[in-house]
Amino acid sequence: MPFISRQEPFICAHCGASVQPLDGTGCRNHCPQCLRSLHVDRDGPGDRLSECRKIMDPVMIDQQSGGFVIVHRCRGCGKEIRNKAAADDEMDAMVAVIQEQQK
Ligand SMILES: [Zn+2]
Ligand SMILES: [Zn+2]
Repeated sequence: MPFISRQEPFICAHCGASVQPLDGTGCRNHCPQCLRSLHVDRDGPGDRLSECRKIMDPVMIDQQSGGFVIVHRCRGCGKEIRNKAAADDEMDAMVAVIQEQQK
């Protein structure tokens, strides 16, 4: 089943950055400044079916062959969702998460 991902600019609920959608096929679902996401997807990326809508914090960075994967955990319900990091995600923020997970 294909998911329709709506690409719209949004204001980050955590740091207030205005987040522009990615060009092309990428689905931007987190803030490149602070890496926070919102719990809007329920069954898959971009489906926007969740009614939770709480902030999701980056709790882990996984390194994969194709790049980085950010693991987000929802402050509201604790659900964890893996998201591909975007090319322009703030490296400092990524490093901070990696250092946090190594403690
Ligand atoms: Zn942010
Ligand atoms: Zn949630």
